[in-house]
Amino acid sequence: MDNIEVFDSPGKGRGLRATKELLSGDVLFSEPPFAAVVFDSLADKICHSCFRRQDKLQRCGQCKFAQYCDKTCQSAGWKEHKLECGAIKAFGAIGDNFGKAPNENIRLAARIMWRLDKEGGVMSDMQMTSLDDLENHISDMPEDDLKELKVDIHNFLDYWPRNSKQHRVDDISHIFGVINCNGFTVSDQRGLNAVGVGLFPNLCLVNHDCWPNCTVILNHGKIELRALGKIEPGEEVTVSYVDFLNVTEDRQRQLKMHYFFDCTCEHCKGHIKDDLKMGGKEVDGVKTQDKSQPRQLPSTTTLIKAIP
Ligand SMILES: [Zn+2]
Ligand SMILES: [Zn+2]
Ligand SMILES: [Zn+2]
Repeated sequence: MDNIEVFDSPGKGRGLRATKELLSGDVLFSEPPFAAVVFDSLADKICHSCFRRQDKLQRCGQCKFAQYCDKTCQSAGWKEHKLECGAIKAFGAIGDNFGKAPNENIRLAARIMWRLDKEGGVMSDMQMTSLDDLENHISDMPEDDLKELKVDIHNFLDYWPRNSKQHRVDDISHIFGVINCNGFTVSDQRGLNAVGVGLFPNLCLVNHDCWPNCTVILNHGKIELRALGKIEPGEEVTVSYVDFLNVTEDRQRQLKMHYFFDCTCEHCKGHIKDDLKMGGKEVDGVKTQDKSQPRQLPSTTTLIKAIP
């Protein structure tokens, strides 16, 4: 990482800033997921190893849950699936869960835990933070989210094998909290459909701005942070956690609800471009994201702008 560094961003906690001048389209870093899983709703439509959408997938003969393009994908995914496979089978044999697999959050939390147990919280020199140091925002969660968290932890404990290393409930909660505010969508081979959720530690360090100077694109299973314009040395690098085409009020509500902060960026303070955005806003059928969900890729216009 010779073009960015971790620093204390005033009022925002840790952040990343440029250490040299960056130009539009520059890749600041590229990062594979620490762990990733296919969404529950697409579990039988997407390969659990390469995240491609396929018409015909082959099921894992053991758990009958994981599906793969072919033997090559199955072998490639076995390292991540090995412990999970037995756990899914056992989970589905418990009365209440009969025939079911745990939900995507639980599967992701477990994949993260197994990886942590095996390799520790920092996998390489390229990873700029350990998972322990990431924010979980559990103390900010409203009552309803806390209830969901408790249910997830309960199911996680049903799922987690007795012969895997046992963890304190606080440590398990931490991972769920981190996923809740830092989980990022993973997309299929075409790059535009969200098909799963993953955790990308470096990306977790990038703070939000409603008029960001960077964007995230997916490239062969890795995320790339790319500059949207010129960035000066010392300038903080930012992405938008919400669709920045929304008006100030909507953005602020979503940021508060999902990421637990009040945005004080220039665009929010000045209500900049709200009149323009209002013009393009649908009045009927506007879907507000009231349910917690992983961060999405920004709108297509940004993606196109980002590619040099
Ligand atoms: Zn595959
Ligand atoms: Zn399996
Ligand atoms: Zn803002």
